[in-house]
Amino acid sequence: MSTVQGRLRIAVQKSGRLADRSLDLVRDAGLRVVKGNNDLLYRVENYPIDLLRVRDDDIPTFVADGVCDLGIVGENVLEEARNGGPRAEVVMPLGFGRCTLKIAAPPTLAYDGPASLEGLRIATSYPTVLRRWLDERNVRAEIVTMRGAVEVAPRLRLAAAICDLVSTGATLEANGLGPHDTVLDSQAVLIRSPVAAEPSLRPLLDSVVDRMAGVVSSQGAKYVMLNAPRSALDRITAILPGAGSPTVMPLSGRDDAVAVHAVCQEAVFWETLEKLKAAGASAILVLPIEKMM
Ligand code: ATP
Ligand code: ZN
Repeated sequence: MSTVQGRLRIAVQKSGRLADRSLDLVRDAGLRVVKGNNDLLYRVENYPIDLLRVRDDDIPTFVADGVCDLGIVGENVLEEARNGGPRAEVVMPLGFGRCTLKIAAPPTLAYDGPASLEGLRIATSYPTVLRRWLDERNVRAEIVTMRGAVEVAPRLRLAAAICDLVSTGATLEANGLGPHDTVLDSQAVLIRSPVAAEPSLRPLLDSVVDRMAGVVSSQGAKYVMLNAPRSALDRITAILPGAGSPTVMPLSGRDDAVAVHAVCQEAVFWETLEKLKAAGASAILVLPIEKMM
C-alpha cells in the first residue's frame, strides 16, 4: 500500500541532470504540478498524485519498497541499487539522460581488454555494477569506492584505472585519461513499484504510465503527408524513416497518383525530403505530433 492513503507518489530527482526532463515528462502527461510549501513534495492539482523530490540514489529503494509507486531514474543508479531485495520494475526507457559507464585509464596503462585490469585497483562510484562486470569476465581487481572526483584517482595514485560516467569525454581528456571498455550504456527509465497501489488508485496509475508512454513515443515523431505517383509508392515508403504501413488515399481526378500519410518515428531531415522528392513525391508536409496513444 502507498504510505499516503488515497494518493499516488512519483519519485523524481530534486535537482541535477534528470530533474528538468523528469518534470517535463510529468507535465506533458497532463499532470498539473504545483509547488507546495514543502520542497520535498510537489502536488498534482488535477489528480490525487504527489511528486516526491529526492536524490536520485534514493529513488530505486523508494520505488522497490512501495514508498513511491513510480520513479524516474538513470539505469546506472538503478543497476547500482541491486541488492538481492525486492526490485523496481522497469516500465520503459525515456530517451533522455543518456550516458555511458566506462573504464578509463592513463596512457601508461597498456589497456588491451578487461584482463588488463587483473590485480589492479579501480576507482568508481558504481562498485556493484563494476563488480558484476568484472566477475562476468573473471577478472579479479580491487574496487575503491569514491563518491565523486573519481577522475582524479589515477593522478593521486589511488587507483590505476577508473570506471566512471562519460558523456562527451571532455572530463576524461582534461584529466589525461583515455576511454576503454563500456561497462553500461544508460538512460533515464520509468520504474514501477512491485508493491501494488491501493485498488482505487490502480486505474490512475495505469493511465499515468500509458500517457507517459504516449509522450515518449511521440517525441521526435512526425506526421508526414505527400503526394506520390502510384508507380513510386514502394520506393517512397522505403524512404520514410521509421514509418509502419502508411495510409494511401486516392487523389480526386488522378488515377496515376495517391496521397500518402505516415507517422515517422524517427527524425525527418531535409535530406529525407530531398530523397522523397527525387523519388517522385510532391507537396510534402511534415507536421509535429502533439499527442499519441
Ligand atoms: P543527486 O544529488 O540527485 O544524487 P547526482 O549528482 O548523483 O545527483 P547528476 O549529476 O544530477 O547526479 O546525474 C543524474 C543522472 O544523470 C546520472 O545518474 C546519469 O544517469 C545521468 N547522466 C547523464 N549524463 C551524465 C553525465 N555526463 N555525467 C553523469 N551523469 C549523467
Ligand atoms: Zn546521485
